Amino acid sequence: RAKSAGGNRFELSDPEADARVITRHGLTNALPSALERGEFFIEYQPLVHLVDGSVHGAEALVRWCHPQYGVLGPDRFIPLAERTGLIVPLGRWVLEEAVRQARYWSRRHSDGGPLRINVNLSPAQLKHPALVADTVEVLERSGLEPGALCLEVTESALIGADEDLLKPLRQLADMGVDIALDDFGTGYSNLANLRRLPVSVLKLDRSFTQGMQQHPCDPVDLKIVEGIVSLAHSLELAVTVEGVETGAQAERLRELGCDTAQGWYYARPGSPDRIHALVLADAV
Ligand code: C2E
Ligand code: MG
Ligand code: MG
Ligand code: MG
Repeated sequence: RAKSAGGNRFELSDPEADARVITRHGLTNALPSALERGEFFIEYQPLVHLVDGSVHGAEALVRWCHPQYGVLGPDRFIPLAERTGLIVPLGRWVLEEAVRQARYWSRRHSDGGPLRINVNLSPAQLKHPALVADTVEVLERSGLEPGALCLEVTESALIGADEDLLKPLRQLADMGVDIALDDFGTGYSNLANLRRLPVSVLKLDRSFTQGMQQHPCDPVDLKIVEGIVSLAHSLELAVTVEGVETGAQAERLRELGCDTAQGWYYARPGSPDRIHALVLADAV
């Protein structure tokens, strides 16, 4: 069926590539109605304090339950949503849903302080004029304090960012919302540039964590992470590490002074109920 939908245009090319193109068109066309039909859902992955394993918060990671292809990860559809602009309503839905969920958790967790919720922002959302107003509205409606929200922006989205792009982030930061620089270390940004950005958290990319896996680990990776952590701390930024898959990595990253961590070693992304249980137990 997909073949005939593609017509003869693909006849001479490789069938697997054809399938990819058709799927991409199909997915792009299906995106808007998928949002209306409620086919997106969010998995949450805990962020833990490296010192004691206590839960710091959770990152919201969107998935698409496609009626035909099953569950699709964000890498399959976020770039498409970004290109078509659907990322704006989709991102707003993720924010609203994640913030509502975080507010629910913090009601059950009155003694331990609020559970932080991390939400990813794409470049198109960053440029959208309603970002600040939408975020304020979502926070006010839910009753979640701004300090419990962390918006993650990739380092590459902020490379060469001018004041126009930074201004909404600055406004959000002034309200108490944390801004994290996601996938840090992959974007070749000028480290001195960090001072200019309204960020309070560096999320060290998974590629560095991978370098901490061998034993003894790569001395160059070790030095780089050590340097980043000390620079981050001297700028009063917290350091989160992503992609921690083993206890040895966690131990090494703790020794290097990283603050919080996220990864399969602690928990894979999962249902809100799982996070709820972890929050009540106060450990992963
Ligand atoms: P990210 O923000 O860097 O999220 C971390 C990714 O690493 C997630 O992939 C997570 O499942 C994965 N991960 C976590 N721990 C481990 C580990 O120990 N080992 C390995 N190998 N992987 C781990 P996921 O869920 O596929 O998301 C991919 C990317 O999609 C995210 O990268 C983020 O950039 C984007 N994304 C996810 N949700 C949203 C969203 O709601 N809005 C936007 N704009 N982007 C989103
Ligand atoms: Mg992220
Ligand atoms: Mg990341
Ligand atoms: Mg990453």
